[in-house]
Parts: sequence; structure tokens; C-alpha cells
Amino acid sequence: MNIIFGPIHSRRFGTSLGIDLSPSKKQCNFDCLYCELDPAKTMGSYEDVISVDEIIAALQKALKEHQNIDVITITANGEPTLYPYLSELIDRINKIKGSTETLILSNGSTIADKAVQDALLKLDSVKLSLDCATDACFKKLDRVHEGITAQEIKEGMLAFKKRYSKPFIIETLFVKTLNDQEEHIAALNEFFLTLKPIRIDIGTIDRPPAYAVKPLSYEELHHIAHLFDPSLPVYIASRKKVESKPSSYRDEEILQTLSKRPLSPEDIVILFDDESQKRLEKLIKEDKIKSIETNGVKFYKKA
Ligand code: SF4
Repeated sequence: MNIIFGPIHSRRFGTSLGIDLSPSKKQCNFDCLYCELDPAKTMGSYEDVISVDEIIAALQKALKEHQNIDVITITANGEPTLYPYLSELIDRINKIKGSTETLILSNGSTIADKAVQDALLKLDSVKLSLDCATDACFKKLDRVHEGITAQEIKEGMLAFKKRYSKPFIIETLFVKTLNDQEEHIAALNEFFLTLKPIRIDIGTIDRPPAYAVKPLSYEELHHIAHLFDPSLPVYIASRKKVESKPSSYRDEEILQTLSKRPLSPEDIVILFDDESQKRLEKLIKEDKIKSIETNGVKFYKKA
């Protein structure tokens, strides 16, 4: 049973050791059409539970083997917040982690639960998914377990955000025709403007999905990013399906583009040709464009 996986290197979080709270099988209260795990019946609580002692022993061994780990990431073959001893586990991790940061990746379904919030407050970063802002979308795309509602998740996120002062990141995965229409984005946009997460990572299907659903191209994600309010820190996290070639941008076009939506260095490389990138450098030197950083991700925006 592989409880610990990694190290995995990510530009945003550094070198991470992952903890899988459900190593034996998929245990989730969602059955997302895009899941990279096999389809499985949803459940409201774990059927197979490993002990905190077992997890801590595996983590201690891995931390001894791998020095210089930046972050311990709590995740699962399924939903990690369904693990019944999450709070106790986080307390034990915090005792042995030293200066290593902690992070959880959750589907956000349980965030209205005060006990889950209390546990997550003890982590250094929290990343929750939100693919949909309405029940109709949730039912079609994430195929949530009975009783889970969009309203409860959104209220839970707002309540948690009020209590949590450390980085709270949202991840939204877009799937063709299921949550990429303007009405879907408008509903998410309205909620994000109230929630004000530190960053919103938008992406699409990167690995073979459980069901026959289609990813979006980079260009489609870029279009979606522009549908969100420019004040929202939307970051395009998937760049695999790039269809277009970099284009030429004049100085004014660069300034206009960055005034509408800040772009990451990765977006710049995809969108701007070499000459345009040089123009961007010049505009940075002239203080017409500045770079900002939010939780490890750099953006360029108009000064
Ligand atoms: S929440 Fe994650 S693990 Fe659960 S079905 Fe969706 S993608 Fe798969």
C-alpha cells in the first residue's frame, strides 16, 4: 500500500511529498466525469480507513529518505476530508514536519462542516475545487453524492475564508459543454467576487478521464479567463493543448492586453512572439508594466 508518493516537483508549491489517505481504493463523494481514477459509486464516508500511526510512520520514513521537502500534500484516491481522523492526523504531522509547509487538495464538498474547517485551519495552504456554482452543473459534471448542494459548499467556503488567514486557493476544471458556457462562468464569477480567493487556477482534463468527456484547448481556457472579472487572480494552469502560434503585439496592444487581464510568464511565451516578448521587457524597464506574485505564481500587469 503506497501511502506516501513523490517527491513531486511543482513550480507553484516546490518539492512535495504526497500523502494518500485512501491508498487501497477510490473513496469519494463525487464521481466526476473527468476523474483520472476509474468510475466508482460515491460514498458519504470512508469504508477502508488506515490508522494515523500507519500514516505517520510512512511519512517519517519518507522524510528521512528525502531531505529538503518544501511541502507535505494531503490528498487521496478520492476525497481526503472524508478521512475520519483528519484533525488528529494534521496535529501529528505538524509535530514532525519542522519547517516543511502543509497543503491539502480537496474537492471542497465538506467545507461547510465545522470540524473539517477546524482541521484545515491547522494547515499552511488549502486548495479547494469548485467546478460549478449551481446544483444542475454539479449533478452533471461532478455527479455529487446525495445531499451535497452548491449552496452549502459556497456558504462553507465563505465561512472558512473568514476564519483562515493563510493562502486559500481555488481550482476549477473546465470540460467541454459541461461547465464552459457563459452562464456557468457568470455564476462562478459572481461567487468568486464574493469569496476573493488568493488565486483561481483554471485548467482542463490533462489525463485520460473516467468517462468520454473532452478537454478545452489553451485558447478556450484563455477565452474563459477573460470572461472573469479582471480583478480576480485567474491563472491558467493547463497548457497542454495549445493550438495557435505566438502572435505579434505592438506596445499599445501589450499594455491593453495586460490592463484587461494579468498574464503569467507561461501565457506570455504561448501568446507573444519573440519580438513582442522583447517589447514586453522594454515596457517592464520603463515601469509601464509591473510583475506581481501571488502565492508562488508570477503575473505581469499594466502599472
Ligand atoms: S473529486 Fe477528485 S477523486 Fe473524486 S471523483 Fe472528482 S476528480 Fe475523482
